[in-house]
Amino acid sequence: MPTDKTQWTDTLIHLFALASRLEGEGQYNLAKLTRAAADSLCRRETHPLDIPSDTDKLTAQVQQAIEALSHLNVNADLLSAMTRGAEFMAQGKLSPITATPHPYVCRGCGYVTLSPPVEPCPTCGAFAETFQRFMPNYWFDALQPEAALECLRQTPLAVEKLIVGLSDEAMNQSPSDGGWAIRNTLSHLRDAQGVLDFRVDLFIKEAHPILESKAVFAWAKNEAERPPSGRDIFETYRVSRAETLRKLESFAPSDWERVGEHEEFGTVTLRQQVSYFAAHEPTHLSQIRALTR
Ligand SMILES: [Zn+2]
Repeated sequence: MPTDKTQWTDTLIHLFALASRLEGEGQYNLAKLTRAAADSLCRRETHPLDIPSDTDKLTAQVQQAIEALSHLNVNADLLSAMTRGAEFMAQGKLSPITATPHPYVCRGCGYVTLSPPVEPCPTCGAFAETFQRFMPNYWFDALQPEAALECLRQTPLAVEKLIVGLSDEAMNQSPSDGGWAIRNTLSHLRDAQGVLDFRVDLFIKEAHPILESKAVFAWAKNEAERPPSGRDIFETYRVSRAETLRKLESFAPSDWERVGEHEEFGTVTLRQQVSYFAAHEPTHLSQIRALTR
């Protein structure tokens, strides 16, 4: 932690206050730098913190955070939703959108609501349209159709470059921290690709498909019905990807705006789903690269 915690906290709060004022004055470029500085400060401090990944310990950490927030007068609905989310996690499940909706925060005063605001902010009168909606991750709207297609084309090529010449033994070798071997990461990419392809078909076959929540992450170490070698797993990923691309490339612009109902994330368009899967993949490339060194 920083040597002078109070100075650090004061600086952070000042940065947020300053950014809001700058936005109010139309100084958007200066405001964006100020917000980036605040975000960087926070991430730099949180990066080395060792939050456990074990479910029970992680649940306890969420409960600890809820307890701390309850003393800071944070919105009770938000804390209830966090509690429900932690209960699902403790049972080894993903929390559905019905239990953990998207929160909306007033950019003016920090008022929180868990339903899309229609009335002005009850505290400061800010218009409903100005609230910030918090999405589960940045992948939903990260990419437009053409950029998403290009990403889906390029990632298998990048993966191939990373694993070229590696033996099965090297790909099967688990890292010392008990994390994924390269083989597991390849399995994960293959699994996610399978879910993407299945959903692309659903969006085209059905008017308003229900998209089941899938804990794809948890399947990576499941070896049932896996091809024998990492190279073969990669090959099934590559072939399936080519097939998905062939379908997507034939879609009209209006097809990309078809809507489905995702158990975990709520209403999503096909474009958001494709963006999600395309933007998700590169987050795993550093994992493979770290094990090839
Ligand atoms: Zn407000």
